[in-house]
Amino acid sequence: MSDQIRITLPDGSVREYPNGVTSLEIAMSISEGLARNVLAAKVNGTVQDATRPITTDSAVTLLTWNDTEGKATFWHSSAHLLAEALEELYPGIQFGIGPPIEKGFYYDVDLNGQHFSQEDFKKVEDKMLELARQKQEFVRQPISKAEAIAYFEKKGDPYKLDLLDRLDDGTITFYSQGNFTDLCRGPHIPHTGFIKAAKIMNVAGAYWRGDEKNKMLTRVYAVTFPKQKELDDYLFLLEEAKKRDHRKLGKELELFAFSEKVGAGLPLWLPKGTMLRERLENFLRKAQVRAGYQQVVTPHIGSKQLYVTSGHWEKYGEDSFKPILTPEPGEEFLLKPMNCPHHCEIYKTKPRSYRDLPLRLAEFGTVYRYEQSGELHGLTRVRGFTQDDAHIFCRPDQVKEEFIKVIDLVLYVFKSLGFEDYSAQISLRDPANKQKYIGSDELWEKAESAIIEASAERGLRTVTELGEAAFYGPKLDFMVRDALGRKWQLGTIQVDYNLPNRFELEYTGSDNQKYRPVMIHRAPFGSMERFIAILIENSGGNFPLWLSPDQIAVLPISEKYEDYANEVFLTLQENDIRGYNDLRDEKIGRKIRDSEINKVPFMLILGEKEQAEGRVSVRKKGVGDLGSMTIAEFIGFFQNEIKPAAQPAVL
Ligand SMILES: [Zn+2]
Ligand SMILES: [Zn+2]
Repeated sequence: MSDQIRITLPDGSVREYPNGVTSLEIAMSISEGLARNVLAAKVNGTVQDATRPITTDSAVTLLTWNDTEGKATFWHSSAHLLAEALEELYPGIQFGIGPPIEKGFYYDVDLNGQHFSQEDFKKVEDKMLELARQKQEFVRQPISKAEAIAYFEKKGDPYKLDLLDRLDDGTITFYSQGNFTDLCRGPHIPHTGFIKAAKIMNVAGAYWRGDEKNKMLTRVYAVTFPKQKELDDYLFLLEEAKKRDHRKLGKELELFAFSEKVGAGLPLWLPKGTMLRERLENFLRKAQVRAGYQQVVTPHIGSKQLYVTSGHWEKYGEDSFKPILTPEPGEEFLLKPMNCPHHCEIYKTKPRSYRDLPLRLAEFGTVYRYEQSGELHGLTRVRGFTQDDAHIFCRPDQVKEEFIKVIDLVLYVFKSLGFEDYSAQISLRDPANKQKYIGSDELWEKAESAIIEASAERGLRTVTELGEAAFYGPKLDFMVRDALGRKWQLGTIQVDYNLPNRFELEYTGSDNQKYRPVMIHRAPFGSMERFIAILIENSGGNFPLWLSPDQIAVLPISEKYEDYANEVFLTLQENDIRGYNDLRDEKIGRKIRDSEINKVPFMLILGEKEQAEGRVSVRKKGVGDLGSMTIAEFIGFFQNEIKPAAQPAVL
């Protein structure tokens, strides 16, 4: 064994250390500040305790709270701390498993009849922090299976014994901190002192090993942070997210509704929601016309044979809506699950030449897919929805240019609607498993490099995933981060070599030979339903002025000014300014409050003085009083406010 080992750091630098050095000591040699933040380390690709000795030349990455794996180690260690706190407060409690999750961690426990609910959370949180302040080290101890079994038999922990049953002797480790010992393969943070804030989020029932034949345990969900402020921020965001829940706002703002009688997962668009939706459609329709798309309309059903040809019947038929029968024996139709097959048939309505391509067919096409009732969620998971769909039929040499154009369209949509933080995923073939994809090597290479180059040319922030492509072609998916930092998957652009084959699409080349076009599916919004849900949650219902269902509210302070209010309202309508005239017999304070609840951007208040001078008093939501204006002044002001989105930069 050599005395010195070589440690390669992520920046490529190599340093020598005594054999047996720990990651924590390596951190210390770099800076004390870094060492204070090290939670764990990745050594030759494996995450381990920062306190484990390293005995061979290794590549070492120090992990802190800013790394996903650092956070996971922090939260998993917090699960041990939670268990220790619970054991002190609930003697005899038995433990299942305690893994980290996306945000925090849980521990499954058997309280053996002891009561534990919301009012006990604070007590447990306080105990966790009291124990954390003792800065107890997490001590790793390899142990034989026999000794491990003896330990948990003595302690009386049947679930740990069940876990041990499936482990091999020689691979088992215990971790202890303070008075608590757990069966665990680690890794853990150096000591409990890193944990400065703890919150029990909720409890739920969970069957042991997820099997309903087993006993129902109590799953305690919690989250911890290295700073109290981070916990405060997190809880604030959760509250904000609840307030912005599109299901709640959709109801309050009267945008959409669901009816059991109509059926689960089938949204009903109310007048205001319909207005919003039509605005969005018109916005995209206009942009698409500028980008060379042609609008088409296809029916909501299609013969079963259409979907047998497209392959959808084979793939989804069994798990979706059943065929519609007619009085004609043997005649079967399906609710349209996709628009693509219809568009392929439009392509085939006449012979196409290389000069006709690209052909871009767009449709706000409503499709129906059966989702399990448990999967349904507001507007984001529904059974009937409208895609902002389009299919581009082009020559293989046009794929890159078409991709660039679609990327431009998608980015234009994002920017116009206030999504500034976006990224994209490029999904390519698994190079080790090429036979599972259809289409020639040459076509794939061409399309893949077209997507990569197009993304680079447009400066997209991308991650590339090998093996994530569909069997019929590579794709580009867009993700946006909303105002609360949540990630949503939005539009997608997908190359398809499959449907042109199945539908035997052709074009005549300049050499008079027949060729297959490439098909590109794309939907910048994804679906109108899902996109509006995200728009509501991102804006909290405060839509951009051009999208607001009600842009203004005319609020006369009493019925004496009804005629003047009508005159003002009519003039605004004539100038394409939408809203309502509140002629209710209510106090002006009440009318203003209701307009605020409805998130109306501008309130025009009028009374004696305004009527006499032919003016209105303008209030802007979130800003306050803008003073008095003549109607013409307000119209000019309004048109200026709406401009940035209504007249977006040319594509
Ligand atoms: Zn552990
Ligand atoms: Zn399609």
